[in-house]
Amino acid sequence: MATIGFIGLGNMGGPMAANLVKAGHQVQGFDLSEDAKGKLAEAGGTACGSAVEAIAGAEVVVTMLPAGRHVEGVYLGEDGLIAAAKAGTLFIDSSTIDVATARKVAVAAEAAGMAMVDAPVSGGVGGATAGTLTFMVGGPDAAFAAAQPCLDVMGKTIVHAGGAGNGQAAKICNNMILGISMIGVSEAFVLAEKLGLDHQKLFDIASTASGQCWSLTTYCPVPGPVPTSPANRDYQAGFTADMMLKDLKLAQDAANASGANTPLGAEAAQIYGLFSGEGSGSVDFSGIVRFLRGKG
Ligand code: NAD
Repeated sequence: MATIGFIGLGNMGGPMAANLVKAGHQVQGFDLSEDAKGKLAEAGGTACGSAVEAIAGAEVVVTMLPAGRHVEGVYLGEDGLIAAAKAGTLFIDSSTIDVATARKVAVAAEAAGMAMVDAPVSGGVGGATAGTLTFMVGGPDAAFAAAQPCLDVMGKTIVHAGGAGNGQAAKICNNMILGISMIGVSEAFVLAEKLGLDHQKLFDIASTASGQCWSLTTYCPVPGPVPTSPANRDYQAGFTADMMLKDLKLAQDAANASGANTPLGAEAAQIYGLFSGEGSGSVDFSGIVRFLRGKG
């Protein structure tokens, strides 16, 4: 069993760290929030006074932070994790951040003789709690192999997407598909309503025809056809519109930096920006159907 430093014990990091404790690892955690640290202690981990204290003696360090600037701040610089870690430490950053920052931090880690993978997740708080997350992993083969046992404890599906930053690339490409397809499915239901076509009829036909996709068949944005979708509980999140907006913005930043042409991704980011701007950021992202309906 390993000693694991865990930085960022929020909605996702908290239950992920608890699963590492349950698997028998010694988990030393740090978060800016006392409440989050308290929950780790309750779960059987050790709450520490700083990030550097949390990684003392650790073979593996997991970070689960809000955005690229937090990851850069925690890893780099004289007081950062890379400077403080013991030689050969394995870093796993599971935050969803921009590809450029992920690659910058990975280069710094490698230069200091450390191994690093970016390993963003999908599966939400439910998946984090159940230990069934999907990890999309970027980094060298050896670092991926070293990270796998730890990721296996926190997730069910672990995919090696290529070199440093490719985990983040996979995550934002997938979520760009998801954002665009959710708007597409929602627009189809809004049009069906205007044309007098019943929701269930459209679902029955499209879900077995070429309009079939996850946004329709698993996460249907209107109540009825898929009883487990958030539409049946007044669009209580699930995955919030603000989280979708964050990932769509990351995709647009990456598209602009790399010269990729993603007009529908740009439009989806605009639409979710307007939805969030009218105060719906904490609504499930499938609630976009209500916004589209409102546009008359
Ligand atoms: P969260 O805000 O609940 O947790 C982030 C934690 O990081 C907070 O507890 C905060 O106090 C802590 N933190 C911030 N700066 C810190 C620092 N310098 N040192 C120590 N701790 C610090 O967010 P979350 O929902 O747990 O999400 C974490 C990451 O996972 C994000 O990048 C998010 O996009 C991604 N993600 C979230 C979900 C989800 O459903 N919540 C799903 C997939 C991916």
